[in-house]
Amino acid sequence: MKQKTILVIEDNALNMKLVQAILSPCGHKSLAAEDAESGLRMAREQRPDIVLMDIQLPAMDGLEATRIIKADPDLKDVPVIALTSYAMKEDRQKSFAAGCDGYISKPLHPKHFLEKLSAFGVGEAKDQ
Ligand code: MN
Repeated sequence: MKQKTILVIEDNALNMKLVQAILSPCGHKSLAAEDAESGLRMAREQRPDIVLMDIQLPAMDGLEATRIIKADPDLKDVPVIALTSYAMKEDRQKSFAAGCDGYISKPLHPKHFLEKLSAFGVGEAKDQ
């Protein structure tokens, strides 16, 4: 499996660290954005293979950011996986309605997280 570039848009520093700690041993490159605006800018400039999108973000939320990605002809095919709080079940439905291709519930469990990602072609990067 090839190395992927994974854009993580997450305002919670602990969650961001956890995601990076899970991804980096797998050999993937992660890009970190703390808010939707900078995340969208990075998406346009760096063309990630996949976007992990926190739904609850300051200012613009992850739903709106996903709609913008899915309305952009250059970005619409990039899978967006929502990171939603386990308690917020309605967030999942809203995520799919906004165009997200999948979701992962928080709190994040490394094994479950990697299983979800593998469904989107993100596994161990062997040929780095
Ligand atoms: Mn958040």
